[in-house]
Amino acid sequence: MIIILKPNPAPKQLESLKEWIKKMGLDIHVSAGAHSTILGLVGDTSVVDIDLISAMEIVEKVQRIQEPYKAANRKFHPNDTIIQFGNVKIGGGHFAMIAGPCSVESRAQIMEVAEKVQQAGAGALRGGAFKPRTSPYAFQGLEADGIRLLLDAKKQTGLPIVTEIMDLSQLHLFDEVDVIQVGARNMQNFLLLKELGKTKKPILLKRGFSNTIQEFLMSAEYIMSGGNPNVILCERGIRTIETATRNTLDLSAIPVVKELSHLPIIVDPSHATGHAKYVKPMSLAAVVSGADGLMIEVHNDPPCALCDGQQSITPEAFAQLAKGVEIMRESMAKEQAI
Ligand code: PEP
Ligand code: MN
Repeated sequence: MIIILKPNPAPKQLESLKEWIKKMGLDIHVSAGAHSTILGLVGDTSVVDIDLISAMEIVEKVQRIQEPYKAANRKFHPNDTIIQFGNVKIGGGHFAMIAGPCSVESRAQIMEVAEKVQQAGAGALRGGAFKPRTSPYAFQGLEADGIRLLLDAKKQTGLPIVTEIMDLSQLHLFDEVDVIQVGARNMQNFLLLKELGKTKKPILLKRGFSNTIQEFLMSAEYIMSGGNPNVILCERGIRTIETATRNTLDLSAIPVVKELSHLPIIVDPSHATGHAKYVKPMSLAAVVSGADGLMIEVHNDPPCALCDGQQSITPEAFAQLAKGVEIMRESMAKEQAI
């Protein structure tokens, strides 16, 4: 981090700034030019509050040279992180598909979908038990019963399960859940992230629809700095001017995140597009973009789904999609071998 000072800084203020920086455990490299003085801060600058320094009278500008995230930063962890749950591995060349309904609705529904997506090649079953719905009048999920049904489906199929936590008060229900999902609306629920950092469970962290990639990685940092390195990122589309799709799938986030971080990143084309017919093309595009996996909403009877039926594909369409993904991954391997 460098601090550019205004010309002729008041010596007293400069001394107290330097002392304050040293108290944070940082070294200072001073370069005094004819017109301005620059302080180079050496050490762990993630503790420094940029806004506070910028507001000082003698300071012209503060610039970060290094990203504010450490645990998630590829610079300090060059190898890809591989997250494992059940027989599934994600990251470092391992690709997995998580599939299932938006929400768990009944035993018959979750059992049928679980068996069919497993046959089609899904590695894990998703299903919401706690649903963050825009309308308080919409179906809110089966809650604890939903988690019980997911665990029954896990017993029957052996598929690990992925389900969303909305609040800390629900954490005791997640003991046997394989992957805890943090939804887009909770990406910056820092208290929740901190608590999940105390667990060792894989956390599927979805990108907030109005959050930058840096904010996304800072949220991962909250979980990791608490002691839980098992974070899977999920790009699920962001809000833009476009209204033809529910969100705009930011596929460029995939190579960007892979450059900045060692964490695996998967894509959710269902919430990104909001239309069943766009799920397959964007899934294939996600594969080509380098995603480590996909999370897809699959329902046995989409028109009658209690949540997100318009973007849910049938188990048969999922089987087709899975074949397409396989072919795309094979041709990607050929292309990378050139
Ligand atoms: C979901 O996965 O069911 C969900 C609510 O997604 P998001 O948080 O991305 O909107
Ligand atoms: Mn959904």
